[in-house]
Amino acid sequence: MRPVKIEVTESPSLKILWNDETVSEISLIELRKNCPCAVCATEEEGFSHSYKVYRGDEVEIADISVVGSYAVSIAWKDGHNTGLYEFKYLKDLAEKEK
Ligand SMILES: [Zn+2]
Repeated sequence: MRPVKIEVTESPSLKILWNDETVSEISLIELRKNCPCAVCATEEEGFSHSYKVYRGDEVEIADISVVGSYAVSIAWKDGHNTGLYEFKYLKDLAEKEK
C-alpha cells in the first residue's frame, strides 16, 4: 500500500488516495494531535492532547513528502517537522475519525 495522490483540502484535511483505490481523509487538527514523533509522544504523557488548543500555524501544513515506501513526513507551518506518519498509521487515523 502506498499513496498515489496526497492533497490538502479546504476542510482543512489531508486526503490520501491509495494505490488500492481507497481514500483516507484526516482533519489536520487530528493529524497534528496524533503526531507520532518522540517530542509529541512525551508531551502526551504529561497532559491530554484533547484539551490542547492549537494555533493556526500549528495546524497548517507547509510541506509533505513521502519517505521511502512506508511513511509520509509532514512539516507544519510552526516549524514542527519531526513527525513521520506511517501509511498504516494514517489509514488507522482516518478510520477512527469516521
Ligand atoms: Zn510531533
